[in-house]
Amino acid sequence: MIYLKLTKRNMNEVTREDILKLCEKWRKELKVRVKRVQIREMRKKWGSYSSKGILTINKELLKFPLKCVEYVVLHELLHGIVPNHGRTFKTLLYTYMPEWEEIHEYLENRKS
Ligand SMILES: [Zn+2]
Repeated sequence: MIYLKLTKRNMNEVTREDILKLCEKWRKELKVRVKRVQIREMRKKWGSYSSKGILTINKELLKFPLKCVEYVVLHELLHGIVPNHGRTFKTLLYTYMPEWEEIHEYLENRKS
């Protein structure tokens, strides 16, 4: 298992530019449509992806390590392929980000 230093927050916040880069990377890799990326306050979710191709990222994530943001981007864009969190979804997550569970758990523990 890959050990991730997730306990310390970033010295520099993740920027909108970073998010757009990650979005571009995974959009190409997964061949999903992204019409718009928005970063806004979300109360109960870290991100969402609508069937219209709108990716929304929780603003709070900007204070987290970039790897967390990347996980959320990957997770949400995967919903462009698999709408639920079933076996196929998890298999794809393991394929693209083998350490995803660790990050997922970290984020779950920080949900307000
Ligand atoms: Zn999901």
